[in-house]
Amino acid sequence: MEGLLREFDWSNNPLGPLENWPMSLKLFVSLILPNTLPCAILWGPELILIPNEPGVFHPNNKNGKLENLGKRARDFYSRIWSQFEPIINSVRYEGKSFFGEDYPTRDLSWDESPISYWSMNLSPLRNEFGQIKGILMTAYDTTEKVLNFQGLRETQNRLELALDAVKMGTYEYRVAIDEFIPSDRFLEITGAKRGISRSEMRNTIFEEDRIIRDQAYHKALHTGILLYEVRLQKDPSQWIRIEGKAYFNEKGEAEKMVGTILDISDKKKSEERILESTKKLAIALEEQRDLQRQKDEFLQIASHELRTPLTSIKGFGQLVEEILLENQLFNESQMVEKLNQKIDQLQKLVENLFDVSKLNSGKLFFEDSVFDLVDLLKSNVEDVRYSPTQHFFKEEYPFKGKVIADRDRISQVIMNLLTNAIKYSPPGSEITIRSRKQGNFMVVDIQDKGIGIPDSEQEKIFSQFFQSEFLSSQKFKGIGLGLYIASQIIHRQGGRIWVESTLGKGSTFSFSLPLFFYYAP
Ligand code: ADP
Repeated sequence: MEGLLREFDWSNNPLGPLENWPMSLKLFVSLILPNTLPCAILWGPELILIPNEPGVFHPNNKNGKLENLGKRARDFYSRIWSQFEPIINSVRYEGKSFFGEDYPTRDLSWDESPISYWSMNLSPLRNEFGQIKGILMTAYDTTEKVLNFQGLRETQNRLELALDAVKMGTYEYRVAIDEFIPSDRFLEITGAKRGISRSEMRNTIFEEDRIIRDQAYHKALHTGILLYEVRLQKDPSQWIRIEGKAYFNEKGEAEKMVGTILDISDKKKSEERILESTKKLAIALEEQRDLQRQKDEFLQIASHELRTPLTSIKGFGQLVEEILLENQLFNESQMVEKLNQKIDQLQKLVENLFDVSKLNSGKLFFEDSVFDLVDLLKSNVEDVRYSPTQHFFKEEYPFKGKVIADRDRISQVIMNLLTNAIKYSPPGSEITIRSRKQGNFMVVDIQDKGIGIPDSEQEKIFSQFFQSEFLSSQKFKGIGLGLYIASQIIHRQGGRIWVESTLGKGSTFSFSLPLFFYYAP
């Protein structure tokens, strides 16, 4: 740089040749030359620029195109002179030093140059008589610091926006100096005043809940994680959730806690409402279970008490019918026959109610034995074959097999399916009874050509008291227990029961039972 200074043509410069420079200027120049920070001297009434090496390209000619050496400050800084001049003047006329931090600047020779930031110091330079003759300018590039800071500020702004959106407050607690720094939102939620201490903060918590907070802090000292939900003293219906993190020093002591606060009153209220309704529901369910128990008990006692007299009535009815026939009182015997049919219906109904009460109270037991299912089917068909409706029974048994089950109960199922097939299909129509094998199961199909069941009802048909809406206007009367009992029996015997049906064309009810395999020891 010293070389550059010497080579520079000073002859046409207001400063004149180097050797004529005043001692003080020479001294100042020799002082700034070795400086590693960008410096420059602005000397004389024209403020001629003499930079040191780092200052040659400083402050605004980083691309090296423009040199400031020997230039008038007014010319070199022409673009910013209107702002710069008052500062310069206050230094050179009033002797005031100036310090400017993070000034945004562009390269003066390059319009599109990116903005850089500089901090600069201007101080007056006096000659040996104390007169201000020049200015010492030092500057350093603070672009990186400023940009980092701006980035940080943007991140912080974004964070604040996010916190604001969820109405979340923040706080910081510095353990060593016992300083508690809450955000505005924190104060708004808790109703506390700025400058509140940590122990005062504790008092904003509902008295009964302070122990929850103390325990959470105690735990956080070990785990580093703070989390608790408490009510506020000012209004115990207001709930807050504090979440935080503890930071420890090398000795493992907590140095600071940083965390968030959220008003969770609404959430708590809905949780309480849910809890309340769950409790009510549980009570209602218990009441319903009680009612169900009472109903089952009543059904069991009533149907049991009805069975015995009904059996006697039925016996006497049949006896009376026989006596009337023997005495050739045909009209009277026909009346009694009708009476006996009604007694049969009544007895079936009572039996069904009795079974349901046993099923519901888990008291329906099975006496299993091994039997031939086709033999049972044949005997059941014989029982209904000569029904007054003159249905035609077609039997197809390509597969014969033994099952292990309660024979009487399975017979009850088959009879129910057969009587339904009769009941819900036209007199004289065909009813097919079929046996087949499906894996380790034997399947029985009972197919009628009757009224069928609408798709919407096929799933519900095996539930308690189900009766078709489709039939309600028609002549069929039942109570809707037969298929429910049948399905319960079949399921408990390890099988399945189902229906396939087309409205107006007929239904096929099927059930399966596990086949009995005899393994010789
Ligand atoms: P119930 O016949 O005493 O009403 P079930 O449980 O035996 O009771 O039958 C329930 C309902 O299923 C009947 O009301 C009827 O609507 C329907 N259903 C049962 N079997 C048939 C069938 N073979 N064809 C058409 N509908 C039937």
